Amino acid sequence: MKQVIAVKLEPSQEQYQALLKTVEAFNRGCQYAADVAYQKRLANKIALQPFVYGTLRSEYGLPAQLAIRAISKAVEAYKRDKRVHVQVDPHGAVVYDPRIMSFKGLTLVSLMGLNGRELVPMRYGAYQAARLDRAKGQADLILRDGTFYLYVTVDLPSAPPIDPQDVLGVDLGIVQLAVDSDGQAHTGDGVKRCRHKFQRLRRGLQKAGTKSAKRHLRKARRRESRYQRDVNHCISKHLVSKALAGQKALAIEELRGIRDRMRAMVQKTQRYERLSWAFAQLRAFLRYKCEAAGIPLIVVDPRNTSRTCVVCGHCAKENRRSQSEFLCRQCGFQDNADFVGSVNIRRKGLEARAAVIPPTVSAVAFV
Ligand SMILES: [Zn+2]
Repeated sequence: MKQVIAVKLEPSQEQYQALLKTVEAFNRGCQYAADVAYQKRLANKIALQPFVYGTLRSEYGLPAQLAIRAISKAVEAYKRDKRVHVQVDPHGAVVYDPRIMSFKGLTLVSLMGLNGRELVPMRYGAYQAARLDRAKGQADLILRDGTFYLYVTVDLPSAPPIDPQDVLGVDLGIVQLAVDSDGQAHTGDGVKRCRHKFQRLRRGLQKAGTKSAKRHLRKARRRESRYQRDVNHCISKHLVSKALAGQKALAIEELRGIRDRMRAMVQKTQRYERLSWAFAQLRAFLRYKCEAAGIPLIVVDPRNTSRTCVVCGHCAKENRRSQSEFLCRQCGFQDNADFVGSVNIRRKGLEARAAVIPPTVSAVAFV
């Protein structure tokens, strides 16, 4: 199972400048290669190479392997959509492989730059440390908010899949971040408080509009993201260990269902975007933690999960009285609406064991 972990780099001032120059030259070269790929309609790196390699070396100053990497990146971008003339981000990722990057012990990484190799100090936590020895030698050098990171691809062992005897349904929402079909709720109060605080802060700082206000805003945004990520890690970890303890599969709704509900609740686009992103992250965490633990993750059709009675099966929009209240118009059954949703998701999960997400999960680059 592939996963991406983020390692913060702590270059000296000189190294920082060297890395920055490398990133900029790499992306300029990449733009040039993308231009030629577009003009000549070449979606194959072997075919493109003779046209651009010499220039990338001599005019853009790229070492041989970085020139090859720039060509690959340009071709991949062109292949994604051949109608579009690709614009490369001047500070986009530099793609490293074992020929131009190697770890030196646990604290240093050697990275090829324009002027040869730089031995750059790294910093990371226990989580990353436990996984770094599984690095496959591929990494992206990323510049984010003025700090360099290596996004390292690691290959983690996955547990053999369990043979589930039951399904734990999980309803993901805004008020309650996650409610499972055992009736256990993971509240989103903390996240909401944090988000509201950030919004107040943003309004104030945007009015001020100064440089330091912008810096404060960036900091606050990072703090909010970190907090959100911690909550998502915590919820997904808890759900997966619960499923494992009970030898159950996990069932969640397709993202579409969650999006539709969110759209109804959240008017402002900006808030919607952030919430949407947070949910995608929670799902990504659930997905890879499930895979690591051998828990099947079942994705079910969201239709009617919030309006079907779990006792008599009566399905009507009117059954859902409010965000939190469910009252069946036919049999009078009454309970928390999110819990009813999760019970319906469990039922659908039991019915649709076929819709298990394929085992190879693509990289999770949420940091
Ligand atoms: Zn009913």
